[in-house]
Amino acid sequence: MDRELFAIFGDPVSHSLSPMMHNEAFHGLGYPACYTRYRLIDGDTLRERFFSLKLQGVNVTVPHKEAAHRACDLLDPFARKVGAVNTIVERDGRLHGYNTDAPGFLKAIAPFDAREVLCIGAGGTARSTVEVLREAGYRVTILNRGAERLASFREAGFAVETWESFRPRAFDLVVNLTSAGLRDESLPAPREILEALFSRAGGAMDVIYGRHTPFLALAEAYGLPRKDGSDMLLYQGVLAFGHFTDHRYSEEEVESWMRRAFER
Ligand code: NDP
Repeated sequence: MDRELFAIFGDPVSHSLSPMMHNEAFHGLGYPACYTRYRLIDGDTLRERFFSLKLQGVNVTVPHKEAAHRACDLLDPFARKVGAVNTIVERDGRLHGYNTDAPGFLKAIAPFDAREVLCIGAGGTARSTVEVLREAGYRVTILNRGAERLASFREAGFAVETWESFRPRAFDLVVNLTSAGLRDESLPAPREILEALFSRAGGAMDVIYGRHTPFLALAEAYGLPRKDGSDMLLYQGVLAFGHFTDHRYSEEEVESWMRRAFER
């Protein structure tokens, strides 16, 4: 079998862990493939780049998940619904698009045993996350700094709040889905709101990974069970790997190889 080629498309893409995760699994499982990174500046060129680089599949990260959605010939129902694709596989000249971020998130929060979830943020990641939570039967409230981005969530039937309208109450899980804390020391909501939440919450999760964010530091100060976005990243990769390799391996064996990328 010829060696297959996979990549991650994004901008920036230099710090992505995806090449390490997928190459660990390809190597460990003996699958003849290699995974690289490609800085894609213009999302509208995604399709052309995919074919000219002779790729079998890609992951897509910021800021091209919507462009990836447009570039595909076929979409799985969830990717179509949320308008964002992070995994593309080529089959018979056609691009098949999937969203593994959201199911990866679901798998990551399973240990919290939550039902009532507060999602802070209303960006691209929040869009797919709140949909997958609702489909899985969670009760979801969305809290965001500004009202503008909340409008489409309200239209989709979600309970939405701004910092001004919100009255903190008990949630099983509070999730930071904003980029606050990614490159700065900011909290995703005013400290007094977060303190009122954390004094009654069952747990906290930040989708940012590889950083002890101010959000997680505050959750720690309240003694809450908590996790960063590493498991979400890992599980979206495990699910993408399944699409890349036509589900040839169990999720458990792929996960055990991919985990090695985090131990380096
Ligand atoms: P967006 O840029 O689309 O998110 C914007 C959202 O963040 C808006 O709701 C915005 O509020 C809010 N926001 C930004 N800065 C602040 C701030 N300082 N205070 C309060 N709210 C703020 O980002 P994405 O949805 O693409 O990504 C969100 C996060 O998810 C990123 O940190 C990203 O790294 C992470 N991520 C993690 C993954 C994983 O595998 N672990 C996968 C994908 C993403 P407003 O509307 O008021 O501007």
